Amino acid sequence: MISPGKTIGVLGGGQLGRMLAQAAQRMGYRVHIYEPAEHCPAGEVAASEVNAAYTDEKALKEFARRVDVVTYEFENIPVEPLWKIEKLTTLRPHWGVLEVCQNRLREKQWLKKNNFPHVPFADVEAGGDVLAAVARVGRPCVIKTADFGYDGKGQLKIKDDASLTQAVKAFAAQHAVVEKWVDFKCELSVVVARTPKREARAFPVSENIHTRHILDFSIVPARVSSAVAHEAEQLAMAIAHKLEVVGLLAVELFLTDRGDLLVNELAPRPHNSGHYTLDACATSQFEQHVRAVCDAPLGDAGLRSPVVMVNILGDAWAKSEPDWEAVLSEPRAKLHLYGKKEARPGRKMGHFTIMADDVETALARARELKAKLYREA
Ligand code: ADP
Ligand code: MG
Repeated sequence: MISPGKTIGVLGGGQLGRMLAQAAQRMGYRVHIYEPAEHCPAGEVAASEVNAAYTDEKALKEFARRVDVVTYEFENIPVEPLWKIEKLTTLRPHWGVLEVCQNRLREKQWLKKNNFPHVPFADVEAGGDVLAAVARVGRPCVIKTADFGYDGKGQLKIKDDASLTQAVKAFAAQHAVVEKWVDFKCELSVVVARTPKREARAFPVSENIHTRHILDFSIVPARVSSAVAHEAEQLAMAIAHKLEVVGLLAVELFLTDRGDLLVNELAPRPHNSGHYTLDACATSQFEQHVRAVCDAPLGDAGLRSPVVMVNILGDAWAKSEPDWEAVLSEPRAKLHLYGKKEARPGRKMGHFTIMADDVETALARARELKAKLYREA
């Protein structure tokens, strides 16, 4: 076990790295952050911050030598430099996990090969035939870039001829995946932790509402039957075992109108939909990640209260400074801000959670507080 007092290196310095660093420090670990951009949210709270490119092998090796284990909070890191880190220190999750999860096509092919339920898809190589792929999958569908997509960036829904023409033009030179459009009842996600000793534990299933492709609300417990919740947890655990993840794995799912679960995306790191665990679970996803990558026993992932998490986007600053007092005056709400200086539309600046005796009450209160915070009410 990598004991408290040792040093954890984190690749990526966003809010996930910040909350990870805070959880690790509380347990007595030191945290070093590696992040290309200066003044990052995680660097502000960590013991040290290195600003260098992910392709800078010299800087990466130096970073690896100074820490006891390396983990990441971000998928879009080139894997080649990571092979070299793996020779110098322990990298968790191992680079093969990152290689599968950072590219939509590899991820879908991996799910298919291992018989996990997924959305029907077709591959379009750069310069390839978008029309043929759309014909194979059928309309409506959605085309997504294979690499570097997040928060709905690099995606286009194709229903009519106009959107098809637009897609052919926009995706002419990019490697992409065409996916069948899923009419879903709801979106769910499960965050699981797995240790080197193969102990695995799932956090309660979250029901996620996206607005303009960005997570807006996470509702826990998800409003699905206990059979569906159990199936989602088992599916996520099975994927984590098959991928041999050490650390966290977040599994995004669609619950279809017919009641089937389909895997949408995998993320081998803390996940936005798991932020509720900070306030509503006995152990947070961040602490659980620290425990897993340090080969410590996992903590209790049980839910202490029904909860709703609301993302605070840069849009909240559109009119003026958000109404913090509205959230802070609610005794069962918790505010989390990430220390980002510039509020751009769509940028994740923070989140708040609201606990209540049942999720419907929490959700109604969350919507009210969000409207006040954004000064729309
Ligand atoms: P990312 O989160 O990396 O931007 P996702 O593939 O998760 O990309 O897409 C973002 C959101 O867009 C999903 O959470 C979902 O709401 C919607 N979406 C994506 N793919 C589909 C699909 N095939 N059918 C229906 N909705 C989709
Ligand atoms: Mg997603």
